[in-house]
Amino acid sequence: MPEKYDHQTVEQKWTQRWQQEKPHVVDLKKAERPYYNLMMFPYPSAEGLHIGNLFPYVGSDIHGRFKRAQGHDVFQSFGFDAFGIHSENHALKMGRHPAALIPENIVHFRHQMQRIGAIFDWDHEINTTDPRYYRWTQWIFVQLYRADLVYQRQAPVNWCPSCRTVLAAEQAADGLCERCDTMVEQKDMRQWFARTTTYAQRLLDNLEWIDWSAVTKSAQARWIGRSEGAEICFAVAKTEIEIQVFTTRPDTLWGATYLVLAPEHPLVERLTPAENRAQVQTYVNSARQRPIGERQDAARQKTGIFTGAHAVHPATGQSIPIWIADYVLTGYGTGAIMAVPAHDERDLEFARRFDLPIVQVIHPNSEPPAAATAYSGEGTLSASGPFSGLTSAAAPIRPKPDARKNRHMGRTGKRQSARPARISHGHTSRRSRTNDSF
Ligand SMILES: [Zn+2]
Repeated sequence: MPEKYDHQTVEQKWTQRWQQEKPHVVDLKKAERPYYNLMMFPYPSAEGLHIGNLFPYVGSDIHGRFKRAQGHDVFQSFGFDAFGIHSENHALKMGRHPAALIPENIVHFRHQMQRIGAIFDWDHEINTTDPRYYRWTQWIFVQLYRADLVYQRQAPVNWCPSCRTVLAAEQAADGLCERCDTMVEQKDMRQWFARTTTYAQRLLDNLEWIDWSAVTKSAQARWIGRSEGAEICFAVAKTEIEIQVFTTRPDTLWGATYLVLAPEHPLVERLTPAENRAQVQTYVNSARQRPIGERQDAARQKTGIFTGAHAVHPATGQSIPIWIADYVLTGYGTGAIMAVPAHDERDLEFARRFDLPIVQVIHPNSEPPAAATAYSGEGTLSASGPFSGLTSAAAPIRPKPDARKNRHMGRTGKRQSARPARISHGHTSRRSRTNDSF
């Protein structure tokens, strides 16, 4: 017997034995206590896995072995998430076609995973680039398409002009491409979106019984991003153009003193009068280069530009200016808002900066609000036509489940979820499921 533990010989002997005798292959049809121990599949977008990649697999494998020791028929599968941006970029870097390069990587990955002696069922390995696999993802997509749960529209993406590729949010952190440090641009592209919004309430309800940390749950809830509100239609004066805005506070309609469109809004070019186009275009271009995170930063000084066009207020008939500002994002609601500076902090800041009118239409029932801030609570309506004197919560302009077409208001609805899920061009790392791609 050798003095020292000879790991090379011992490991080789047992991994070979396991490959021949397949003790980790479970007969799923006959399993009495089936237990599916699923873990994240790697992207084969490098020559091999590094030790950090193995860390989560070892922990999950210990869990699988523990369940097996408890008498479960543990099915522990492995696979390769082989399509997408990471694989393509690796192939570009190596100057080879991904269809030739990626299978080579997979051979090496598999060999590495077999060497660690985890209880994977290699008879059921999955490779997402295998037509036997992706025919089913395509089939699912077709079902979603037929059910009207996926649709296409133009939307901005993070774009690296040097890598000439779309970047996931965390690959574009700080506004720089994670690989080449080039400034990331916002570029409009036709993209697929899934109407996860249709299931927003169910998604939120079901979070309750998922065994996740409170932090992860609240991040998920934010990602689902459902908000109650209404869509209101504003006609652009002297044109046929109509702008749909989304608001969570339709009871503040009479206090809307201007509209704001996101710089990426598809109507910007059409509604801007010819004499203003050059300046508006300059603003739009600069806004597009600003990272989304910076645009959402409440502390940053607001920027914007007047389009030169006006909208007709649907309730008062008054003419109100249409502005463009980068604090409004296309990913939220309709990409256009009615600004109510008396009752929204961001709108108030913008109105003060650009000297736009501020009309208070909700008055708190108890103490008067601090004049320096916007009042976003409930109260009694004033200057609101037939609704003046009512309490804001009871006002019939609050969205109702059965709200239909209304002469003044345009279309209102019980809810409009804020964020449909974008189906990304590449892959978003599953490290951050909290962004809007998947
Ligand atoms: Zn780049």
